[in-house]
Amino acid sequence: MKLLLCRSCADVFRVRDEIRRCQCGASGGYLDDEHRLRVWGPSVLLGIENSSVETALRIARPHGARAPIRAFVFPERDGHAERREA
Ligand SMILES: [Zn+2]
Repeated sequence: MKLLLCRSCADVFRVRDEIRRCQCGASGGYLDDEHRLRVWGPSVLLGIENSSVETALRIARPHGARAPIRAFVFPERDGHAERREA
């Protein structure tokens, strides 16, 4: 799962196939028709490993315990997202 973190307002949201913006409006992004991420603003692309969420749900829910998930920050330029001006 890919999320966009706005460094201006700290809003975090999932990037989808429609244009979405953070709470302050400075950052935004969408998934284009070729499944490429297009992002802008003072944002950072975050990733959460889906398999770690599933594992955490299996641990946390039945046992009432907190369970960690694996999240990471994408480098500024690694081919996962194309940055453009708003
Ligand atoms: Zn913002």
